[in-house]
Amino acid sequence: MMLSGWGGYPRIEAVPARPAAVEEVQACIGHATSLIGRGNGRAYGDAALNAVCVLDMRRMNRLVAFDEETGLLVCEAGLLLSELIDLFLPRGWFVPVTPGTRFVTVGGMVAANVHGKNHHVDGSFGDHVDWIDLALADGRLLRCSSIDEADIFNATLGGMGLTGIIFRVAFFMRRIETDLVWQRVEKAADLDVAMDLFEANGAASYSVAWIDCLSTGARLGRSLVMLGEHLGRDELPAGRAGRAFATTWRQKMSLPFSPPALMLNRYSVSAFNAAYYRRGRPGDRLVTLFSYFYPLDTIGNWNRLYGRDGFVQYQFVLPMASSRTGLRAILSRVAAAGVGSFLAVLKLFGAALQRPASLSFPREGYTLALDFPVCADTFNLLLDLDRVVAAHGGRLYLAKDARGGPSILAGYEEVDAFRAVRARLDPLRRFSSLLSQRLDL
Ligand SMILES: Cc1cc2nc3c(=O)[nH]c(=O)nc-3n(C[C@H](O)[C@H](O)[C@H](O)COP(=O)(O)OP(=O)(O)OC[C@H]3O[C@@H](n4cnc5c(N)ncnc54)[C@H](O)[C@@H]3O)c2cc1C
Repeated sequence: MMLSGWGGYPRIEAVPARPAAVEEVQACIGHATSLIGRGNGRAYGDAALNAVCVLDMRRMNRLVAFDEETGLLVCEAGLLLSELIDLFLPRGWFVPVTPGTRFVTVGGMVAANVHGKNHHVDGSFGDHVDWIDLALADGRLLRCSSIDEADIFNATLGGMGLTGIIFRVAFFMRRIETDLVWQRVEKAADLDVAMDLFEANGAASYSVAWIDCLSTGARLGRSLVMLGEHLGRDELPAGRAGRAFATTWRQKMSLPFSPPALMLNRYSVSAFNAAYYRRGRPGDRLVTLFSYFYPLDTIGNWNRLYGRDGFVQYQFVLPMASSRTGLRAILSRVAAAGVGSFLAVLKLFGAALQRPASLSFPREGYTLALDFPVCADTFNLLLDLDRVVAAHGGRLYLAKDARGGPSILAGYEEVDAFRAVRARLDPLRRFSSLLSQRLDL
């Protein structure tokens, strides 16, 4: 069947296997000369693509155990975050770290060591993982944690599926008292104001900014900064008293097909971004947890927005010291190129745990994610941005990448240690993806 990541680029013919038990995973590993694990295909690029065999893990979605005292949950890796939330939210539990969509699997969250809007206080998803069960290239099953087989554990967090098939994960859930969030919106007239707001609100539980990435001059980087706090049970408004978990999620609309590419141009995207900024209402308001964490999920198939050729997401992080100059340089180039990105997402990462042999993306500093339609202009622009990111000591997020060359790995100090762990576990590189082949990992 034809498979791609969320960006729809690249798209390849692939043979998926759909194991429902760990013995079937082992059998697939035994038979295939080359394979890669796949969750729900929400990585944007080619991280979960392999032309020989793709192991679709979504049938392995059982809950194994839950400890009400500690919040430790054990589940199979193919469990969708949306399924987990549907089951646990009404009981007052939420995940400690969530990406911007609920439609990912727990295995995918581990393999990309995903971050959320709370990295500055809570770190990445992997920081809340107790242990991982892995099926290795030689057919063995192995449990690893920060104590046992720590090098394999670290390499698997953010290892993009290259250490083996994750089939079970144990991690700590978080107690919450309601399914509402106090959201504060602040309007930032330019990039400096936005960054000052992030830094002044370092104690906020969650923070994120939507940037108008096509504004220029004095408005460069103007943004809506959105802070969030879980609402306490005793803060429930009168209309919701006694009903702490009463929100149901509904998709508002779905894009039935891709609009023609010519609708996506400098003018339409600029107009959209400017309107979004203008209509943003500063102030505090109560919103549902779904609308704070997953605004994009309400539009089904929104990835069709960029046209039939697909789109690429470019997400990088720059160290604190070079963030201001680096972000300004990048936003100026994007605005000058006029290649459209509907809104861009800026976040502040806190100090990340130093994990030897890990390809985890987060490090202390600012991260910006931009979407671009697939076209020659985009690829030329991104080559230029690669140079700016490298010159400022930054790195790209592999879960979003679809086009970089091996040089983008220079931003990952632990890449050689990662390669050494992988060579020990899988000398023939049977776990391999288009991403790992393209980057010569
Ligand atoms: C709208 C949207 C918002 C997002 N927001 C964020 C965000 O805020 N923060 C963030 O960090 N990421 C974010 N992402 C990226 C996403 O969280 C990651 O790409 C995640 O890995 C996707 O999970 P998945 O289950 O869809 O995995 P896939 O896309 O199917 O696979 C991703 C990687 O995980 C590996 N993998 C998956 N399952 C297994 C397994 N069982 N065993 C071994 N390897 C496996 C694959 O080989 C691949 O390398 C976002 C993506 C979208 C579409």
